[in-house]
Amino acid sequence: MQTVWITGGAGFIGSNLSSSLLSKNYKVICIDNLLSGSEKNIEDFYSNKNFTYLHQDVIDFPLSLAKKISKPDYLFHLASPASPNKNNKISYMCNPIETLLVNSKGTLNMLEIAKNANAKFLLASTSEIYGDPSVSPQPETYNGNVNTLSVRSVYDESKRFAETASMAYLRKFDLDARIVRIFNTYGPNLKADDGRVVSNFISSALKGEPLTVYGDGTQTRSLCYISDLISGLEKMMFMENIKGEVVNLGNPDEKKIIEFANLIIELTKSKSKIKFEKLPEDDPKKRKPDITKAKKLLGWEPKVGLKEGLIKTIEYYKSLI
Ligand code: UDP
Repeated sequence: MQTVWITGGAGFIGSNLSSSLLSKNYKVICIDNLLSGSEKNIEDFYSNKNFTYLHQDVIDFPLSLAKKISKPDYLFHLASPASPNKNNKISYMCNPIETLLVNSKGTLNMLEIAKNANAKFLLASTSEIYGDPSVSPQPETYNGNVNTLSVRSVYDESKRFAETASMAYLRKFDLDARIVRIFNTYGPNLKADDGRVVSNFISSALKGEPLTVYGDGTQTRSLCYISDLISGLEKMMFMENIKGEVVNLGNPDEKKIIEFANLIIELTKSKSKIKFEKLPEDDPKKRKPDITKAKKLLGWEPKVGLKEGLIKTIEYYKSLI
């Protein structure tokens, strides 16, 4: 049986990945400090003998601890706050130093462990490394447009560092590192109060409260359903001979934020209205992945359409009420 470590394993993406890998008979070691993750996402796995949860920050990960647990054959490095919402206590804007550290020191720690174990390493990078893009859709060859002084840069720049660190380990130590740039993703286990657009809009619609559209709602995003992302992550990790590859994973179905708001009101049959609030500082005006490379290299493309994914997500949030 092969062992997979997932840092950030109690988070939105990490818990869905844990579930999928347990069903495929991997031994899963989930490492999380619960800064933005939640035990609720993983408690169903506690009875599974192939699942181990370690409450541990990867910023301070003693190598002696690594020696006590099964060595990874595969290491998915997902740990990091990822919500930009400045009013939300789990966001990267509210945890700027932790975000810088987890993506720098935390990444170096995990690279070292993967190197010592001769494991394959997958870095969860982000579309944020493209900043406010001047090219759309964004291909992997686009170097991005990040303002180092912006409020978002603690996330953007530290993820850029994490990519650089992964490439340095590959070049210096021949580590089998792969990088995935994850675009906006939604679905079950995304915290209702996470502060991101889908969770905010569905939560408000279900409560009959106004949906808050920031700015005039003409900024665009492209939303990928979680099961599609998980299948992409697994292909990227388990495919042979793709060491050092960098791949965008996301759904290229680009829409304006106001269109998502209207669709969610329609699908929830809510009486909520739309309220406009100030656009947050440095909010990217557009975002759409170019997934040509993922299609060619991995034979991957999203299968779940926006309506279908939103209906499943709405059912999930209803089940929490
Ligand atoms: N947004 C919004 N209302 C909300 C939450 C987000 O209008 O309640 C907008 C936000 O300004 C951004 C987009 O939706 O333009 C996506 O925001 P999110 O925080 O989900 O992620 P981002 O793509 O900005 O990292």
